Amino acid sequence: MNCKKVSVLGSTGSIGKNTLDVIDRNRDLFHVHALSAHRNVTELAEQCARFNARLAVIADASLENELAQALKQNGAGAEVMSGEPGLLEAAGGPETDIVMAAIVGAAGLRSTFEAAHRGKKILLANKESLVIAGEVFVAEARRNKAPVIPVDSEHNAIFQAMPEGFEHGLAERGVEKIILTASGGPFRQLAAERFSDVTPEQACNHPNWSMGRKISVDSATLMNKGLEVIEARWLFNADPDQIEVLVHPQSVVHSMVAYRDGSVLAQMGTPDMRTPIAHALAWPSRIEAGVDRLNLAQMNDLSFEKPDLKRFPCLGLAFEAMASGASAPVTLNAANEIAVAAFLDGTIGFDEIPCLVADVMERIPVSAIENLEDVMQQDQQARREANDWVKNIYG
Ligand code: NAD
Ligand code: MG
Repeated sequence: MNCKKVSVLGSTGSIGKNTLDVIDRNRDLFHVHALSAHRNVTELAEQCARFNARLAVIADASLENELAQALKQNGAGAEVMSGEPGLLEAAGGPETDIVMAAIVGAAGLRSTFEAAHRGKKILLANKESLVIAGEVFVAEARRNKAPVIPVDSEHNAIFQAMPEGFEHGLAERGVEKIILTASGGPFRQLAAERFSDVTPEQACNHPNWSMGRKISVDSATLMNKGLEVIEARWLFNADPDQIEVLVHPQSVVHSMVAYRDGSVLAQMGTPDMRTPIAHALAWPSRIEAGVDRLNLAQMNDLSFEKPDLKRFPCLGLAFEAMASGASAPVTLNAANEIAVAAFLDGTIGFDEIPCLVADVMERIPVSAIENLEDVMQQDQQARREANDWVKNIYG
């Protein structure tokens, strides 16, 4: 393998740091070209120095001077850019071969789309991009021959278990269905009456995975699995009725593909995001990821059960949004982003997250999505409606 230049969008986050850890173990194969962060100037500058990055991008443009200072102090020679132009350059500039899309939320859409537009190899962690712009994004990637390798552990597992040529149609390749596994999150066994008392700290304390705060809350409501169902639809060109969810509390089987002949192929591993990150980085080769090996002999309890849609209505809402199609997933995602932020800052209760999402979805009619601008417009409208919901309840 030639040495590839990698841009990590969202390098200060959980996925970003794990990506740099894998790159660090494989410096002969990967060079860091660009790194980006939202506001964390100190960490971004340190990362740039450590990996000798050529471009440092701070999304909050008001921090550009601060970043330049911090880079100097760290002895890093990276060029400084900020805001959307910086993110687009990191994602689509001629010197980038591989883009790790690891910004959280719809904020990652434009840069991820730019990588698709420029035909880069995309390592996709930013699932929200695919949820809100799936059809448009996949078409853009295909048009520009941009390979999209899923980093989300479930989708990476499915990708590994898929037959060659799956993108031409699952049924034609003998695939009957995709089975996404879900850990069930920290409240898998908590009674619904107690959901109103849940604190952000409890919600972010995931039993098996250490992740950013937004996805941790999504895992606790099962909205994360809902977003992943929609993500799977677009990544694998699947019909909605070909996707199923099973709760698997041990998080050892990361997902499965069921075939017409009765075969079920699963990918397993310790729950460590460095495995899917390393797989996506090196694909189709394999590299060292630094993860603990699975000790199968010690594993006497791998269990699977149906998800409880009554206690976790977010998963049902996502299935509904997928069935409605068009702008419905955009509304779902935007309302959820506002709801999660409001829960994390203590404005609404954990049990109110699905109420907010359901109400906003009811209020906004479904409309056609033809391009990125349609997505952004719908996203803004849903955010306004969701913010009004929060204000009206507590204003
Ligand atoms: P995180 O909150 O830890 O990190 C987010 C990164 O994005 C940070 O570098 C932050 O600076 C940057 N960022 C945040 N807001 C931004 C904005 N408005 N503009 C530009 N940059 C911004 O999140 P994470 O857990 O690393 O998740 C990143 C993405 O990967 C999410 O879409 C998540 O769903 C997905 N994902 C994460 C995991 C995991 O284990 N953490 C697993 C699967 C998928
Ligand atoms: Mg996942």
